[in-house]
Amino acid sequence: MSITEKDRYQLFIGGEHVEASTDEYFTTTDPATGDSIARVATATPADVDRAVEAAREASAMWQEKTPAERGRIVHRVAEKIRDNADDLAHLESRDQGKPVTQARTDVEGAARFFEYYAGAADKLEGKSIPLGQDKLDVTVREPYGVSGQVVPWNFPFNLTARGVAPALVAGNTVVVKPAPTTPLSALHLAELCREAGVPDGVVNVVPGGSEPGAALTAHDGVDQLTFTGSVPTGQAVMESAAETITPVTLELGGKNSAIVMPDADLDEAVFWTAIGIFTNAGQICSAADRALVHESIYDEFLERIVERAESYTLGPGTDDPDMGPLNHAEHFEKVVDYIDIGVTEGATLETGGEPPEREGQFVPPTVFSDVEPEMRIAQEEIFGPVLTVIPFSDREEAITIANDVDYGLTGGVFSQDVKQALAMAREVDAGSVYVNEWFGGSTETPFGGTKKSGIGREKGLEALDSYLQTKNISVNLDERDG
Ligand code: NAD
Repeated sequence: MSITEKDRYQLFIGGEHVEASTDEYFTTTDPATGDSIARVATATPADVDRAVEAAREASAMWQEKTPAERGRIVHRVAEKIRDNADDLAHLESRDQGKPVTQARTDVEGAARFFEYYAGAADKLEGKSIPLGQDKLDVTVREPYGVSGQVVPWNFPFNLTARGVAPALVAGNTVVVKPAPTTPLSALHLAELCREAGVPDGVVNVVPGGSEPGAALTAHDGVDQLTFTGSVPTGQAVMESAAETITPVTLELGGKNSAIVMPDADLDEAVFWTAIGIFTNAGQICSAADRALVHESIYDEFLERIVERAESYTLGPGTDDPDMGPLNHAEHFEKVVDYIDIGVTEGATLETGGEPPEREGQFVPPTVFSDVEPEMRIAQEEIFGPVLTVIPFSDREEAITIANDVDYGLTGGVFSQDVKQALAMAREVDAGSVYVNEWFGGSTETPFGGTKKSGIGREKGLEALDSYLQTKNISVNLDERDG
């Protein structure tokens, strides 16, 4: 069965599409045109209660399945996603705005999350700890119970899969709260899970904005939280998790530096920096926001990156241009404001900046030079296609500038000297460092931040640690006792 786009979506609770407890609906629109795609029921805190209740009820039955059976079911979700990949990519492209080729990559990545974690289902082993002949001591790894997951709008389908797949494999049930501007693909994912044999109540989706998000993250029936989004919301989530002492994984923002050393292959550095900042219209936490370029190659780098930026085609995601619109009007205003701030701060606008005269929330690839590291455009997350290019004179200065930000999500080094590149990779304070590429790593590699970029790791086997707790069982074998 293929996915069927609808013009009205309900909540997904207990394996069914159900009405919200009020008649309130919100509209999700195509950011390239402003046209309505669908009306979506708004979950209230009472609906979040229902979803958490459904997830709690399904919990024992899901945990009783053998790990091998859970793995088989989760693997079938990957197959369902692949069977529907073109439709899902088209839907995501309309709802989010991204070029359909990029949406297709996101969908393939989502399938990989289910496939990868399915294979881990029957390998979540504990250990035995030697305490002497008259003791047996073992650890078992147990699910938390109900995982509450709050998702942003930049990679709606992929990030939902990134959290749901490991949570399920570990034996948790899930309640997902997608972002209000991109709720559709999570609802379809829940439906595909059901078709794949995921039992009712194991995956639930409660669309809406901050109200159901806050209700979910404060809920005392939720045993573990996965939040991906901005720092201020992450802080609010952490505060409410403190009330219930709920463990929380936070995947927050970034202000990431690509360091281009004088011996870098300049073609390679320009190519990857452009991909790093202009993919998904720059709405990526791990984007190459700042290019730190050695003064000896600064002018040449600038000339080449500007040329590349100016070659980008813009258009509706479904036309598959190089770059689509920004996701929603409020965010568009924020990015345009940052461009004004950059000009006011005295940086030089080399290209872009001016939104084209057309409908939709488009911002062209934008490059600033003469950027001082302490300027707001060099310190704050813009989350748009805006590159700040900063010169440096030696390696030590490059590392100082790279690390002098609140964030620590990703970073990169371009150099042909492998010793230098690896030493610098160790010096960059970030959860992931790319050498002579950008967006390195994959499903199998851990991803997360240092400093204000977050707590915990998603992806790779490490992500499973967020969804499992260790129980120690010690056994007395001494027959002389008693
Ligand atoms: P956001 O914080 O505004 O919203 C994220 C989600 O939280 C949305 O679903 C929103 O409805 C919900 N929410 C809002 N208020 C809430 C509250 N009080 N309690 C609970 N949930 C609430 O972020 P955004 O603008 O949607 O996403 C952009 C941000 O996400 C950027 O900072 C970006 O860097 C970050 N991000 C990080 C990663 C990562 O893996 N580190 C990945 C993607 C995006």
